[in-house]
Order: sequence, then C-alpha cells, then structure tokens
Amino acid sequence: MTRRKFLAGNWKMYKTVAEARQFAEQLSRRSTDLSVDADYAVCPPFTALQALRVILPSGVLLGAQNVHPGGNGAYTGEVSVDMLAELGVHYVVVGHSERRQLFGEGDEFIAQKVEAVLQAGLIPILCVGENLNQREHGQTLQVVANQTQTALAGIASTALRALVIAYEPVWAIGSGLTPTPAEAQQVIAHIRSVVGENKGAAVASSVQILYGGSVKPGNIAGFTNQPDIDGALVGGASLAADSFADMALAMNGR
Ligand code: PEP
Repeated sequence: MTRRKFLAGNWKMYKTVAEARQFAEQLSRRSTDLSVDADYAVCPPFTALQALRVILPSGVLLGAQNVHPGGNGAYTGEVSVDMLAELGVHYVVVGHSERRQLFGEGDEFIAQKVEAVLQAGLIPILCVGENLNQREHGQTLQVVANQTQTALAGIASTALRALVIAYEPVWAIGSGLTPTPAEAQQVIAHIRSVVGENKGAAVASSVQILYGGSVKPGNIAGFTNQPDIDGALVGGASLAADSFADMALAMNGR
C-alpha cells in the first residue's frame, strides 16, 4: 500500500493568536510548495485553533496538542473531543513525551485518549519513544512496543483505519540530537510489525508512522526517504512558515 507523506507541526506552548495568524499568512504565500500529494497539519495551542481554522492554506489541517478523554464533566481546565471537533480539528496529539514526563500521563490514560479521539471521528497522533537511559540499556524496541500495544489494546482493528503514530525518542526532542535515519527506520519498522501482530496486516500497512525529534529542513529527507517513515512530527522547526514550507519541499523530494 502506498502511504501519503505527512508533515505535522507541534507548536507546543508557542504563539499568540496574532502570531498564529502571521504564520498562516506567510505559509499561504508558500502554498505552491505544499504538494497536494502529501498531508499537512499544524497543532497550535488551543487558543489559536479557532483563528487558524479559517486562514490556514487549503490542505493544511488543524491538530490539537492534547485532549481529555471524558465527555462533559467536572474537569477544570480540560478540553473534550467534541469541543475540538466543533473547531474543525482533524488530528489530536496523544501521549507526547512532554505530557508523559511533565504532567504524569501514563499509558492507561493515553489509551483512553486514543479511544475517545477515534470515537469522535478524529485522528490520534500517538507519540511513543524511549528515553536516553532506556536507549543506553538497549530497551528501545521493547519500550516502543509496550507503549504502542497498551495505547491500542482496547481498540478494534476496524476503528483504526485512520491512525498516526509518531516515533519520538525523548532524548532527540528539542536537543539537536537525532538517531540516524537507518536507526529510526529500524524502530519504525518494528512499531509497524507490532501494529501488525496486534491489529492485523491491513492496519499495519495503512498506519502513517512519523519520525519526530530535532527535525529541520536540512535533515528531514534523510528520515522521510526511509521505506517505513511516512513523515515527521516537528516542534521547533515548524514555528516559522518558511521552515515549514522548506521541510514540505524536502519531504516531497522537490
Ligand atoms: C516535538 O515537540 O514533538 C518535537 C519533535 O520537537 P522538536 O522538533 O523541537 O525536537
């Protein structure tokens, strides 16, 4: 199966509404650099979703960085899948390592989020990845397999037609360090085989699996040229429209 390439920007806690609007205007000027053969998304803070919805160039979809798995309820400070869907959100980042590390989110809670996102008809971008200690102890494949299995355990294969996984080694996020493309390919091929063993060959061959961690215009193609790597989830280098467009060009071999 031919999978589409996907470039997703995770803006973390950056950009006011005014700054987000400026990004959209600048990216619109580069819209011819965004090949229609690939998928694109930006994941701004919640506060900028509504403004971006109407001004992003066509083909660039909206993602959210987080969600609470409950419906309406007494969860002060949280946002539900229905609230995101109403704003035109397509993707929701789930299980980002900053959520796991800084906000204590565990695999079970992340699994609930994946389920809630799918039930609302949105697409989870499930983040998995080992920390430095785990890498140094040779545990990378085991860690990503466990995270993937737990997050998808309660979900029927038929519900997984639209799923994105991002392999993001924790030590590579925001550090300027990366695995080699061949190392990332090996881990991502393993994640794909774990999906296949648990959810069947059809899901394994359709799931888009991205690499994330210090991706920039100069190194993205090395990753996305690998056979199992379907794109990139990018933090810092997705904040500038020109850098986003340059990564799109490189990812698409232009
Ligand atoms: C991220 O936030 O998911 C990420 C990969 O960040 P960066 O590209 O800045 O390493």
